Amino acid sequence: MSLLSDLAEALTTGGVEVVDLTAPLSAETPVIQLPPPFAQTARFELEELSRYDDRGPAWYWNNFRTGEHTGTHFDAPNHWVTGRDGDDVASVPARRLVAPAAVLDFSAETAEDPDFLLEVEHVEQWQAAHGPLPDGGWLLYRTGWDARSSSQQDFLNADDTGPHTPGVSPSCARWLAEESPVIGLGVETVGTDAGAAHSFEPPFPCHAALMGSGKYGLTQLQNLARLPATGALLVVAPLPIVSGSGSPSRVLALVERG
Ligand code: MN
Repeated sequence: MSLLSDLAEALTTGGVEVVDLTAPLSAETPVIQLPPPFAQTARFELEELSRYDDRGPAWYWNNFRTGEHTGTHFDAPNHWVTGRDGDDVASVPARRLVAPAAVLDFSAETAEDPDFLLEVEHVEQWQAAHGPLPDGGWLLYRTGWDARSSSQQDFLNADDTGPHTPGVSPSCARWLAEESPVIGLGVETVGTDAGAAHSFEPPFPCHAALMGSGKYGLTQLQNLARLPATGALLVVAPLPIVSGSGSPSRVLALVERG
């Protein structure tokens, strides 16, 4: 038997489960809100072309409009000024879009403190228990934030001091980008950076460090609670938007059940 026929068999028998980590994409999908004077990203919108009617009697189809960074999406290196000469989303090698994932669960900490920041020592403690982060794989940062994704207000969790959502400290962002073996960081929140990261030094350190190192971001994931700490294989499928800075993406995890 070949590896792939073994996998196909396991998918049929349930030995390998496919877990969908993608948030539904609709006009209600939460989007990031930047303070003035910055430009705002678009919500997802459908424009109906025909629905078995005079405009097309036998067919239903739509146009859609969306931000590249709406819903579950992929951040390409050229999204940030630090990676401006890096790959656009269409140039990311397909080989890098299928990769192992480590899941680090800090949902208890973030329930206590919505401004919780992941530090290098947290990752080192995780590695002491679970082994090294996967070379060429993803660090998936579980915060429980997916439970809030049906409400823009709960998801952004903003008050008059700004949004309060968990993220990564500047030193940990730099470590993930420059020293860890992962190709990217996946989160459940609206962006890879903390809600308060506009005030960090540097501002938005995950974006600055990861994109500047040719690494990737994945945001608004859900169902991370259904993944093991190690051993899941991620399939990440952004659209190949030529010169694009990112794309809504279907993100699937293959998980061995046994
Ligand atoms: Mn983004």
